[in-house]
Amino acid sequence: MKLDDIISNFARLSLDAISIGYCPPGETWARHVWSNAAFRDLFGASDIDIVGRRVELMFDPDTLDELVAQVRPAIQNGDDSVQVEAWARRLDGRRFRVNANIIFFPSDEEGGRFSAAVYRDVTALREQDRAAQQALVEREALAGEVLALQNRLMSAINTLPGPLAIWDKDFRLVVCNSAFAPRILGQSVPPSVGTLVDDVIRQASTSGMFADAIGREADWLEESLADLRDGGINNRTRYTDGRIFQAESTQSENGDMLILSTDVTEFVEQEEMLKVYAAELEKINGEMEYKAFHDDLTGLKNRRYLTERLAETMADRAEGRGELAILQIDLDRFKQINDTLGHAAGDHVLKEVADRLARCVGPEDVLARAGGDEFVVLVRFTEIEDLRALADRIVAALAEPVHYRDAEFRAGGSVGVAHTPVSDLDTLLTGADVALYRAKDTGRGRAVYFETRDLDYMREHKALADDILRGLDADEFEPWFQPQIDAVTGRLVGLEALVRWNHPTRGVLPPGVFLETADELGRLAEIDNRMFRKAMELRRSHDFGDEMPGLSFNISTYSLMSDDLSGLAREAGRAPFEVAFELLETIYLEENADAILLRLDALRDAGVTVEMDDFGSGRASVVALQQLAPDRMKIDRRLVAPIVASEQSCALVRSIVDIGHALGIKVTAEGVETEQHVEVLREIGCDRLQGYHISKPISFDDVIARYGRPTAQAAAT
Ligand code: C2E
Ligand code: CA
Ligand code: CA
Repeated sequence: MKLDDIISNFARLSLDAISIGYCPPGETWARHVWSNAAFRDLFGASDIDIVGRRVELMFDPDTLDELVAQVRPAIQNGDDSVQVEAWARRLDGRRFRVNANIIFFPSDEEGGRFSAAVYRDVTALREQDRAAQQALVEREALAGEVLALQNRLMSAINTLPGPLAIWDKDFRLVVCNSAFAPRILGQSVPPSVGTLVDDVIRQASTSGMFADAIGREADWLEESLADLRDGGINNRTRYTDGRIFQAESTQSENGDMLILSTDVTEFVEQEEMLKVYAAELEKINGEMEYKAFHDDLTGLKNRRYLTERLAETMADRAEGRGELAILQIDLDRFKQINDTLGHAAGDHVLKEVADRLARCVGPEDVLARAGGDEFVVLVRFTEIEDLRALADRIVAALAEPVHYRDAEFRAGGSVGVAHTPVSDLDTLLTGADVALYRAKDTGRGRAVYFETRDLDYMREHKALADDILRGLDADEFEPWFQPQIDAVTGRLVGLEALVRWNHPTRGVLPPGVFLETADELGRLAEIDNRMFRKAMELRRSHDFGDEMPGLSFNISTYSLMSDDLSGLAREAGRAPFEVAFELLETIYLEENADAILLRLDALRDAGVTVEMDDFGSGRASVVALQQLAPDRMKIDRRLVAPIVASEQSCALVRSIVDIGHALGIKVTAEGVETEQHVEVLREIGCDRLQGYHISKPISFDDVIARYGRPTAQAAAT
C-alpha cells in the first residue's frame, strides 16, 4: 500500500473534517483534491460536489476577506502551517463558523502547493464565547449602575441632617449616614460595617452627646438597648447641644432595621410654646371666671355670684334641706370713716370686716360683698336659734374696734334677716333689705328679722313705685319755684326749681314722698331732665322786666354723669338769664371724683353757674369747697336755723361766709324763716336769701302773680 492510501484511509478514520487541496502554480486558491466523510458531512456535500472545487467556494463570500487576511501572510512568509477561523458555507447556503488548521507542503510540480486542513465547527463554541462576553459586558454595566445607585442613595442619606443607620437582623451595622458618627458618637469616624449595635450604643452612652445620658450612662445604655431589642425605637432625645431629635425605627422585610432621627427642635419648641400658651389661657380664663364671681377688694363672692346661687337654690327648692335665710349686713359708720380718714382707711375697714364675717359663717354658707359697705350671707339652717346665733355673732364681730395706723374706731353694723318659711324664697332679698332698713331705723348695731307685717310696708313701697312709674307716664311731675332775693336790695334774683308731684288723688306731693323711690327705680335723672325742660320753658314764657331772676336746678349725681347733661348745659348756656346747677357737696366723695370734676369744668365752660347745695350739712365741707370751686354755695338750713338764738351758730355761719368770699364764692342762705334771720344774714354779709319767710315754693302761676311785670291795669291803680 502506498503511503498516500494509508494516509487517506487514516484520515477517513478521523472524526474531524479533513480535506486536502492542491494549488497549481500561479493560482491563488487551492482546489479540493480529497476530503473525508466528516468533511463532507460538515459541508453537506458529496464527493462529486467537492473534488476539483475551489476551496474559496467553501466559505462565505461576504467575509472572504477575513480568511484571505489570515492566510496570505502565512503563504507570503513561506510558513508551513496556519490556523484560521472564518465563516464557512454549506452547500445549502447555511453559514457556520469554522476553525481550520492548515498545513502547506510543496508539490513535485515547481510552484505547486498542497494544503491539508482540519476543520472544526466552532459555531456553538463561538456563540458561547460571545454570550459569555456579552454577559460580562452586561454585568460590568450593571455593576456600574448599582454602584451609581448606591452612591446616589448614600449621598441622599448623607444629606439627611439627622443620624440614620441600618442594622441587620443580628443588630450589626449595615450602613450609616455621615451625620451618624458625629451625632451619636461625637466623632467623625463612622463605626465600621458589621459593628454590633451594643458596641455603638455603649460608645454613645459616654459620648457626651445625649443630655439624658449624662451622669447615668449605664442606665441609659441599658434602657436604650432594651428599647431597641423590644421591637424598635420611637422616642425623643435631647442632645447636649440643645437640639431635640425624634428617633424612629422601621423594620424591612429582610429583617433589617432602619433607625432615622429627625430634628424636631423647632417643632417641640412650638409645641411647648403652645402648651405654655394654653396654660396661660386657662389661667386667664380661670382668673376671669374668678373675677366674674368675686369682689376684688375683699376676695369675697360678689353680688353676681350671690344672685346666681340664689337662682340655683330656688331652682332646687324641692330639695328640702332645711330652711334658707338671707342676712343683709350694712356698716353703720362706714361713710363717716371713709370721709374723715380717706379711702385707704375705708378699704382697710372693708377687708377687716370681710375677714370677720368669714370667721362667723360656716363653710357651706355663701358670703358675698354686695357692693359698697353691704355684705350678704346666704345660709341654710334647721333651728331658728342657730340663725339667731349667727346674726348675733355678726353684730358682735362688727362692734369690735378696728385699728388703722394709730387710730381705733368702730364701724359697727346692722343686720337685716329674712328667712323661709316666713318669707318666700323669691322675696328673701327684699325681705332682708326691709329688715335692714328697720334695723338702721331703730338704732343700728343690731339684727332685725323680717316679719309678716313688714310685708305691708313692702306692699306700700311697691304700690308707690308703680304709682311713680304711672305718674311719669302721665307726666304728673312739674316744677314749683322758691324765690331767692338779694340780701341787700331785696329784689328777686333767683328761682329754685323744686319738683312736685301733681297726684290725681293725693294732691300736690313734695319730693320727700317719692324722690327716694324714684331714685331706686333709676328714674331720678329723668325727673331732673323733665324739671329742667319745663322750668326753662315756663321761665322763657314770661317777661319779668327789670327783674332778671335766674333758675336753679337740683342735679343728682346720676344726671351729672348722664349723657343728656351736655344737651342741658348747652341750652342753659344760651339762656338770657342765669342758670345754676345745684350739686350736693357729697358728690366730691363719689368714687369717680375725677370724672365729676371734668364734668363740672364742662358745665362752667358752657356758661352754667355751679352751686354747692346744703353746704355744711355733712361731710366734705371746706376741702370739697376748694376742690369743686363752685361759683356759689348754699348754707344748709340746719346751720341757718339756730343763728338767731345762738351766738356760736352765728359765728359759724359768719366764718363760712367769710371763707366763701375769701375763695371768691358767693353765698346763699336757705331756711330763712324769720325777719331776724334776714337781718342777721344781711349783717353777716350773705349774698342771697331763700326761705319760707320770703316765700314757700309756689307754682309758676303764683310766681307770676307775685313777681311778674305788673299788667297795664295794675300799674294804673
Ligand atoms: P333742697 O335742695 O334743700 O331744697 C330746699 C328744700 O327746703 C325744699 O323742700 C323747700 O321746700 C324746703 N325749704 C325752703 N325754705 C325753707 C324754710 O324756710 N324752712 C324749711 N324748713 N324748709 C324750707 P322740698 O321742695 O321738699 O325739696 C326737698 C329736697 O328734694 C330738695 O332739697 C332737693 O334736695 C330735692 N329736690 C327737689 N326737687 C328736686 C329735683 O327736681 N331734682 C332733684 N334731684 N332733687 C330735687
Ligand atoms: Ca337745692
Ligand atoms: Ca338745700
